[in-house]
Amino acid sequence: MPELKPHLLDALDQSLAAWAAERGVPAYRVGQVRKWLFEKRAADWSLMTDLPQALRADLAERFQLWSTTIARHTRADDGTEKLLLNLADGGQIECVLLRDADRRTICISTQVGCGMGCVFCASGLDGVERNLATGEIVEQMLQLQRLLAAGERLSHIVVMGMGEPLANLDRLLAALQHAHRADGLGISARRITISTVGLPPAIDRLAQYDQHYRLAISLHAPNDELRDRLVPVNKNIGIDAIIAAADRYFEVSGRRLTFEYVLLGEVNDAPEHARQLGRLLAGREALVNVIPYNPVAGLPYRTPSAERRQAFRAILEAAGVRVKFRHRKGDRIDAACGQLRRSAATGLVQIETSA
Ligand code: SAH
Repeated sequence: MPELKPHLLDALDQSLAAWAAERGVPAYRVGQVRKWLFEKRAADWSLMTDLPQALRADLAERFQLWSTTIARHTRADDGTEKLLLNLADGGQIECVLLRDADRRTICISTQVGCGMGCVFCASGLDGVERNLATGEIVEQMLQLQRLLAAGERLSHIVVMGMGEPLANLDRLLAALQHAHRADGLGISARRITISTVGLPPAIDRLAQYDQHYRLAISLHAPNDELRDRLVPVNKNIGIDAIIAAADRYFEVSGRRLTFEYVLLGEVNDAPEHARQLGRLLAGREALVNVIPYNPVAGLPYRTPSAERRQAFRAILEAAGVRVKFRHRKGDRIDAACGQLRRSAATGLVQIETSA
């Protein structure tokens, strides 16, 4: 493999500052490069036409602009688009663009694979390979943004792709800076949601951070006995410690919490589970996001029947819990995390493939 140049997006500010200082390039040139990347959605150095050609050539010589290639690009009828990206070391990750009325939400990954081992999830079936670099996280945002039409703007980010975001927190936070900065994507922190299996020390670190992102906690069970089975890392943590950390995050940030609950037919969808969940969350400023299971080939879990989903919802609502049932956008293109990487993606609209 040829030696790779540094990936520009990885330490963007430092790289550009060092370049400017060394070349005696005025600071506004750095601003121009940022503008081409984040605002004008440039695909290549050659498009950055307000930079003198010599500077463009110098940048191209010195930095790798993109570190990934698109292995597969799929689009569903509802406007959802999904990218399977090849990383420089041969790994693969997925990221998704969702269109919903005026919203343009992107879903990004933080690791290759996942180490949390949730028994129903495709991403963790083979464990975690590695953390993504900051630049690889930023690159997903830019690659997805480039799928938008000229009149469309990214409005929301959810960190709900492959991997456990709080297990790669430093690199994620560095990447998200470019999401919310005015000279980045300009998406405010309250429109950025980090979804976690629930790692209390990392939740506390996040609470101390100067940006308060929205936090979504993947609960999936109302008691430790069941959660230990579905989300194995729970054995070392426990629901009480997670809820306590979530409460602290709410206290500091004022951001309403979301608890995610993947509804698995005949596993965690009984009326008694709904009642327990209601008791657990009653009185909290929280939203329960109930996600019907998106079946994964080879795993024994299935989506509950409409009756059971309805009953689950009614019990939670009666307990005074705010509930949202997520609709399954993009399920035809396997938009649930980790699924495209594993599937043969049959019946999809394949848009573009590059090596
Ligand atoms: N590690 C983070 C991000 C995971 S992906 C976390 O645990 O929150 C975001 C959500 O999708 C999680 O709640 C995850 O449990 C859920 N999920 C995983 N596989 C799914 C599937 N096949 N169908 C529906 N939701 C799934």
